Amino acid sequence: MEESISLATPNPTLTSGKQKIALALAGLGVLLLLVVWAAGNAFAPVPVLSASLGLICAGVWLFVREEYLTRPEGIKNNGVWFKSLSARGIWGWLAAIIITGFYTVLYFFPENWLTGLTALFSPVSQGLRGKPADKWFVYGSLYTLSVLVLGVKFMYKYRHNRYQLIRTVSVMFFQTGFSFLIPAFLQVMNEPEYYFTYFWPLKDYYGSPGAVQYYGHATSLSVYFIAFSALMTFVGTPVLTYFFGKRWYCSWVCGCGGLAETAGDPFRHLSDKSLNAWKIERWMIHSVLVAVVLLTGLLWLNSWQQGGVLGKFSQAYSTAYGYVLGMAFSGVVGVGFYPLMGSRVWCRFGCPQAAILGIFQKKKSKFRITANGGQCISCGNCSTYCEMGIDVRHYAQRGQDVVRASCVGCGICAAVCPRGVLRLEGAGSDIDQRTEQLRTVHIRLEDVKILS
Ligand code: SF4
Ligand code: SF4
Repeated sequence: MEESISLATPNPTLTSGKQKIALALAGLGVLLLLVVWAAGNAFAPVPVLSASLGLICAGVWLFVREEYLTRPEGIKNNGVWFKSLSARGIWGWLAAIIITGFYTVLYFFPENWLTGLTALFSPVSQGLRGKPADKWFVYGSLYTLSVLVLGVKFMYKYRHNRYQLIRTVSVMFFQTGFSFLIPAFLQVMNEPEYYFTYFWPLKDYYGSPGAVQYYGHATSLSVYFIAFSALMTFVGTPVLTYFFGKRWYCSWVCGCGGLAETAGDPFRHLSDKSLNAWKIERWMIHSVLVAVVLLTGLLWLNSWQQGGVLGKFSQAYSTAYGYVLGMAFSGVVGVGFYPLMGSRVWCRFGCPQAAILGIFQKKKSKFRITANGGQCISCGNCSTYCEMGIDVRHYAQRGQDVVRASCVGCGICAAVCPRGVLRLEGAGSDIDQRTEQLRTVHIRLEDVKILS
């Protein structure tokens, strides 16, 4: 039966019977995890963990099949402003409180607050790393699982769009391989834990004298890690951004972006599109960039002067930076506020890596979103679903290219446009051709003037 949304039916049924069963299955899996967490101990960890994760995966899979495969292809955001979870209703607030609470416990409370969950994940940790789980292993496992399970959901939703499929496989691959498995295997090989997908300034430690000292001497292999880190910061990042824009990192590689694109997808429309938000965003993200540059500079100065310049202060500054930005902002607020402020709170307002990539993208990059303004019907879909709060319609209506520092090149604006107005491009032949055509028209007008 076809469902219609009108003023007479302000609360249409948005979740089918099958979906309610699917939600119950996934909820049961989450409940199992909560019981183990509350009990503080894990009885029969392998069967319990398998049952819990199995129920969650089965529930999500059944839900998304029903949501997307029972309808024709095409992006469905039906009822997004009617659902309590995605419209800052009770479920949205509850989700925000639960995620924020989880991150607060993870970062600011000692290991023994999560003893039940660490015991539950220990057999997996033993298998992968050859040692029992700690709270960071639990976090990494749940994070990777979220990217994978909700990445599959994302692929069902955008299954007709090749760009979305490829970049989602990419973030799933980098999260699983480079942020979860490789760091674990390195430990089995008695190498120091290292994340190949994070560079300075996002990972401020990798640019510090402490890291150079540590990785430079830890093992014969580890010196290459820090060399790779430096190479990516000074060469890889500008070169790749020149050709591809910041999307090569923010939408294809980064773990924070990976979670935002997959788990955060149902909340992307909640980003604030106002000019005020844009102003605040620029102030905040560039302030964080200045803070990390100062921190790194101070640490190097002190290393050179053997603590002679603000020695104690630099240590306190480094600790404060880690707590306030590394934990409270990027973790607690950055993920916990998805259901309230959209999926890219950290990427938009705080990430120093995004700030640097944004500067390159704005000043020196071939990447831009081109707009065929004549086709735009001003529906506003592009602006609504831009997770970075960019008012894309403003540019589209005028036929202007979108060249914004904050754009992560997710491509959703182009995907949801009903008129095919927007295209993600490098400054290759398409743009050059159009510029050339405009120039030709201009020259002919000039000719007309001279002749008359
Ligand atoms: S402008 Fe388009 S590509 Fe850029 S962040 Fe917004 S939705 Fe994504
Ligand atoms: S989604 Fe397409 S048609 Fe609608 S406002 Fe944006 S560019 Fe115009």
